[in-house]
Amino acid sequence: MAGKKVVIATNNAHKLEEISRILAPVTGWEFVSLKSCGTYPEPVEDADDFEGNARIKAIAARDNTGLPALADDSGLEVDALDGAPGVFSSRFAGEGASDADNNAKLLELLADTPFDERTARFVCTLVFVDLDGSEIVARGTCEGKIGYEERGENGFGYDPLFVSDVCDGLTTAEVPPERKDAISHRGEALRQFIREFEHINES
Ligand code: IMP
Repeated sequence: MAGKKVVIATNNAHKLEEISRILAPVTGWEFVSLKSCGTYPEPVEDADDFEGNARIKAIAARDNTGLPALADDSGLEVDALDGAPGVFSSRFAGEGASDADNNAKLLELLADTPFDERTARFVCTLVFVDLDGSEIVARGTCEGKIGYEERGENGFGYDPLFVSDVCDGLTTAEVPPERKDAISHRGEALRQFIREFEHINES
């Protein structure tokens, strides 16, 4: 599988850079951006889990570019909210909601929930679809609790509220980016992807 061109189905420059930096040396694949392949209508992400939505994005990219494609989907699951916001993480407070709007809604819904019941996790799923229909699927999680106020300037999304279980009470917006990469759901999914890739190529 070495040497082939693979499109990364994201318009997020940070994800594109991170995924290709980590996976290119291991896979030998040449990653190209969606932007460099022209445009097509964005697919509707209407699956009820992260893997389903990542698959929808990967298949749309493959079918519209003619290249094998890799997509990721991620979000936050809060136990006291039965797994919400889940696949609605980016639009929790409504279509076009800002990170601040989403965080404010989360704090409001958890106002009466004590700290030890504010358990939550970030989840990331990666789906790679090849031209012959074969797939590689990898998942990573990052466990923590939802704090009481926004803290920290790094990261994005729910990071200022997410108190990681392994960061001494700090939120994932308070730790340096390298530390977050080492413990994050996306980092874990990428490491699992590499194991799956190596397993397929050994057999
Ligand atoms: P997407 O996978 O880019 O669609 O991300 C979905 C949403 O999940 C983002 O808009 C964030 O609200 C949230 N999210 C995903 N990963 C993270 C993270 O690492 N930190 C904070 N929020 C995240």
